[in-house]
Amino acid sequence: MSSFVSVARQGDVAVITIDNPPVNALSFHVREPLMQALVSLRDDPSVAAIVIACAGRTFVAGADITEFGKPMQQPELRAIVAVLEAIAKPTVAAIHGTALGGGLELALGCHFRVADAGAKVGLPEVKLGLLPGGGGTVRLPRLVGPSKALAMIVSGTPVGAREAQAAGLVDAVVEGDLTANAVAFAAGKASAGAPAIPVRDRDARLREIDLAAFDAEAAELAKKARGLEAPLACAEAVRNAITLPFDEALAAERALFVKLVAGDQSRAQRHLFFAEREAAKVPGKDLQKRKIARVGIIGAGTMGGGIAMAFVNGGFPVTLLETSQEALQRGLATIDKNYAVSVSRGSLSEEARQARLALFSGTTDYADLAGCDLIVEAVFEEMSVKKEVFGKLDTVAKPGAILATNTSYLDINEIAASISRPQDVLGMHFFSPANVMKLLEIVRAEKTAPDALASVVDLARRIAKVPVIVGVCHGFVGNRMLSARGAEQEALLLEGATPAQVDKAFTDFGWPMGPFQMGDLAGLDIGWRNRKARGQTAVIADALCEQGRFGQKTGKGYYLYENGSRTPRPDLEVEALIRGKAAELGIAPRQIEAEEIIERTLYPMINEGARILEEGIAARASDIDTVWVNGYGFPIGKGGPMFFAGLAGAGKIVQRLDHWHERTGRPAFKVAPLLRRFAETGSWEAGAAT
Ligand code: NAD
Repeated sequence: MSSFVSVARQGDVAVITIDNPPVNALSFHVREPLMQALVSLRDDPSVAAIVIACAGRTFVAGADITEFGKPMQQPELRAIVAVLEAIAKPTVAAIHGTALGGGLELALGCHFRVADAGAKVGLPEVKLGLLPGGGGTVRLPRLVGPSKALAMIVSGTPVGAREAQAAGLVDAVVEGDLTANAVAFAAGKASAGAPAIPVRDRDARLREIDLAAFDAEAAELAKKARGLEAPLACAEAVRNAITLPFDEALAAERALFVKLVAGDQSRAQRHLFFAEREAAKVPGKDLQKRKIARVGIIGAGTMGGGIAMAFVNGGFPVTLLETSQEALQRGLATIDKNYAVSVSRGSLSEEARQARLALFSGTTDYADLAGCDLIVEAVFEEMSVKKEVFGKLDTVAKPGAILATNTSYLDINEIAASISRPQDVLGMHFFSPANVMKLLEIVRAEKTAPDALASVVDLARRIAKVPVIVGVCHGFVGNRMLSARGAEQEALLLEGATPAQVDKAFTDFGWPMGPFQMGDLAGLDIGWRNRKARGQTAVIADALCEQGRFGQKTGKGYYLYENGSRTPRPDLEVEALIRGKAAELGIAPRQIEAEEIIERTLYPMINEGARILEEGIAARASDIDTVWVNGYGFPIGKGGPMFFAGLAGAGKIVQRLDHWHERTGRPAFKVAPLLRRFAETGSWEAGAAT
């Protein structure tokens, strides 16, 4: 018997236990002995029923991700499930923790599923650009009906044991000793003597919905797929389960899987999966982490309020500090309103709202921050104000407290150098809305202590954020690359594109929103003020702001928003303004294709990303991808800007940039040496700075 799969007997019930920590992944070294155990128990006349259970904290939580992209060693999961499903004696999966992907598909091969009350089950393959390839799309609809299966498989979101039971996926939900309960359940089925019907032979629920209704549901979901192939393939596979005989549907599922797994989108999504894990690896992993139990937030404005909510949602008590009672009350009222909206939408219970509100306390007195282990500053973006705040923190914060700034652009080394404990200072750059957006750029300043950095990376995951460590520079990784495309957006308008045309090229590429719609949403005045402070100009954006067109908040920006509507309408006045400015500059309008819009905006960003790597501001190209996907909505099917550089062809990118640089002399087009090297070697690693 293998150390990964063991068999024990309880009377005439055999219990197979999979023990492959940490998540009982279906690695080859599990699959092989599992298959042997099933065959031998199938053929053993003294065994009346079989239970499959797992040791440790969970049932099989999926495939072994280290085997991705390699030829699969036999037996594959599909073969195991086929043998399991053909066993004539009752088979029972005993599910605790999470049965995900291949784990749930294994459980679907059993006649019955008994779940711990806290268990969750799901088929999350779509999140890696795949579909369940082990029979999940063909068996799940037979248990829960096509509608529910479609929703579960296309979303990839797991459901709890009780919901799974109500849907027909789980036969019994139990509390207490799961294995004992599953054994009793199996023994009961065996002694009842009724033949157990394999899932493949249960067709009744497939007829619950007519095809037209199913297709309508699938079409709704397809709209949300925004160019991703996997959700559509998932829907097609579930449809096949309804229209084709079992084995044909199974073969069709396989064919779809094989196509997806070899495609660029799934490669991109798997890249992102590993990128995120890699980004969260802390340089000083073994360092003693600082204890963080209480958090202070300074400034209860847009960001401070959101950051406070992010911590409270993660269970941390928070003290919010403002300059006046009035500002404090305003900030707290906004937080209160946000939670009330969640309750009215049904995403938060009233009890949970009360519990969260109880974690807030407000103050205008810095002395009240003395008990905080971490203090995050989110006051106005001005060096003098930041230094004043940090000066006060230097006197009141307890020794070892981590002092973080949420600055977007300011030099954190300068802030750190202004106080007596620069080793405790770092950046925590949240994205708006901070209680929603997943990205957290953690900025390592020159003197930041490694244990402070490691503690904050660790903490990020406790508040459901995706951390990426970055270095100090203007705009860090995300905003710096965003600036690199700003000038091109303006240039495209001057050369003849309309805001709507540019935005459409972006959404067709897969972005959730184009840059002009985004600008209107965020408020154009912020950038305007920023530019003025830095002595910079942007012909069109400045002209709009001079007319009081700040975006949605003033009802007008690049677009028109009539009667408080949030739907952008193209505005002829803006187009006339653009043409006027172009004429002043002697630029004749021309037809601009979507491809040019994407290349002109994206390639300078990739180029800036290469510079960021050269300077060591980011440690890995994949960190940059993680930033863009989680902070700015870069389309996941394209893997982030640096991964996309490989898909688009780095040679072509370099050639285009060279050409534009020759024509315009713009610095954003000057090819970074690392990008040139990437075009030759295909690897960002080669020249990555340390
Ligand atoms: P905001 O104007 O909405 O809020 C700032 C708050 O800080 C105000 O409520 C103000 O009363 C308070 N404040 C000012 N000086 C203070 C002081 N000395 N002590 C205590 N409170 C003080 O601004 P915001 O958009 O929340 O931005 C805050 C910081 O976050 C800035 O550094 C900004 O660059 C950064 N940031 C903003 C965004 C964004 O999208 N808005 C995103 C990331 C980072």
